[in-house]
Amino acid sequence: MADRYFLETPIAGEHATLQGSQAHHLLHVMRVKVGDAVMLFDGSGAELTARVQSMGRNSLELAVLARKVVDRELAVAITIGVALPKGDRQKWLVEKLTELGAARLVPLETHRGVAQPLSSAIDRLHRTVIEASKQCRRNRLMKIAAPQTLEQFVTDVESPSARLIAHPGGEAMLASFDRLRRDYANGDVHSIAIAIGPEGGFADEELAAAAAAGWTSIDLGARILRVETAAVAWASIAGLLTARSHQLKDHFNLSDDVIRQ
Ligand code: SAM
Repeated sequence: MADRYFLETPIAGEHATLQGSQAHHLLHVMRVKVGDAVMLFDGSGAELTARVQSMGRNSLELAVLARKVVDRELAVAITIGVALPKGDRQKWLVEKLTELGAARLVPLETHRGVAQPLSSAIDRLHRTVIEASKQCRRNRLMKIAAPQTLEQFVTDVESPSARLIAHPGGEAMLASFDRLRRDYANGDVHSIAIAIGPEGGFADEELAAAAAAGWTSIDLGARILRVETAAVAWASIAGLLTARSHQLKDHFNLSDDVIRQ
């Protein structure tokens, strides 16, 4: 029962209907039979075990046997505002951010951006989030928000507690790591927002708007990373720096002394 199937409508009660591409896969690729067990999720945080009750040409009726909330989210909600790259690199970026646990992606409209996100592209990226969530076993979907300008993004009313804008020449990477880890340990970080610019970089006016809104400009090292590399690198660093202590300890086999630092 390795495959997972997603339902856009929340599953309530003891019955579910699977249609569209999800049903097609089960019927015509997996060739399930009545009585087979499948795993479902609906983005609510739960995963459900269900049994095939009946099959039509393009849909399946399922009986829900068990519902279990399984939390695979990061300790801190990470929002990534990113000037989307083009084509396949866009899809790769969304897939990796989903796997890494980012909570929200905001496509940024920037002065030097090339790919201005259309609503059809947003729908396509939402489907990529679903496919990646099936694979990585995430039970909540990364939200693809409506596009914003960088200026809107940095003044967003839901201001996160840590606000970082990636720009070559910003604060040294290790100093940013130290501060984030320390602030998190002190209980001061509940959410993180990170802004990543387009291939041409952020314009001076955009950097000034971010600074005025209290964002810290951070450097990511001596090499210039492509947009998607910078976004994925920072999503994984932020997730690691704010991992719950017991997770770090278990994953990396660290001593209590290291965890206390
Ligand atoms: N020539 C551009 C500049 O100087 O800003 C490079 C843009 S880079 C290809 C695309 C985006 O990735 C940047 O706007 C920044 O947000 C992020 N980025 C890439 N490498 C970085 C680095 N070494 N330090 C900080 N941010 C970086």
